[in-house]
Amino acid sequence: MQIYLDGAWLAREEAKVSVFDHGLLYGDGVFEGIRVYDRRIFRLEAHVERLYDSALALALEIPHDRAGMCELVREAVRRNRRENAYIRLVVTRGAGELGIDPSSCPRPCVIVIVDQVRVYPAGLYASGIKVVTSATRQVSHESVDPRIKSLNYLKNILAKIDAQRAGAQEAILLNQAGFIAECTADNLFVVRGGRLLTPAVQDGALGGITRATVMQLAGEIGMAVEEPRLTRFDVYTAGECFVTGTGAELMPVVEADGRRIADGKPGPTTRRLTEVFHALVRTEGEPVF
Ligand code: PMP
Repeated sequence: MQIYLDGAWLAREEAKVSVFDHGLLYGDGVFEGIRVYDRRIFRLEAHVERLYDSALALALEIPHDRAGMCELVREAVRRNRRENAYIRLVVTRGAGELGIDPSSCPRPCVIVIVDQVRVYPAGLYASGIKVVTSATRQVSHESVDPRIKSLNYLKNILAKIDAQRAGAQEAILLNQAGFIAECTADNLFVVRGGRLLTPAVQDGALGGITRATVMQLAGEIGMAVEEPRLTRFDVYTAGECFVTGTGAELMPVVEADGRRIADGKPGPTTRRLTEVFHALVRTEGEPVF
């Protein structure tokens, strides 16, 4: 494995960051998770765009332009020769003084890791997962806009712990007003009366790349897609429910807060969208090696 770290290509054992890095000390940094399918990097430009938007929001100046960053990621995939992979792209504030002052960090630290991915056991895609509503709420845009994909994932981790303690795989985070925002590492969708519904980013959803892809594919197969405010009622009474994410892809949800959703099995719309998603990711874009 060759990991890019601050201008060097290093073996796994050698790729280490400073204990003074503000990414470690304060969660001060941004990241992306990106997939490689059959040597094609899925929607790399969209991921890099989101990374730079997150960095802009944090006034973090990434020491590459967007095109250079895309090329760096392609180079990492080529060097690692993985046909199917998960890429973790991280930019931290870099090493500085112990205080939080970001201006003490002269140079952001850029990391690119190409590894394998396994978010959920394969069997769960056939059976579906359980979700619970977490007591931990989505952060408000008045403090940290949830569109920023930062290294501070504590609320997500707290919600994930809630899910695990309840015997579920994912947790729903509500926003400050009690509407559904998203899950700990995934966006949430419900199918109702032939329409596909998902929370708007203004309601606290991350602008997921998989979310955007699924919305596009739904339109292509003739489904209406809407972004209304959703509450738990909409999940409990849904015809189908699923979550989306780079790691999870599309994962059916068959139970929420102890209530079975519809017949408790992954539904036909989820299956259809999963099929077209898998076809797309293996054909879109050019192989990088
Ligand atoms: N919400 C959160 C909080 C996430 O961490 C992720 C995974 N990056 C998503 C949603 C899904 O986004 P994407 O489809 O871009 O992976």
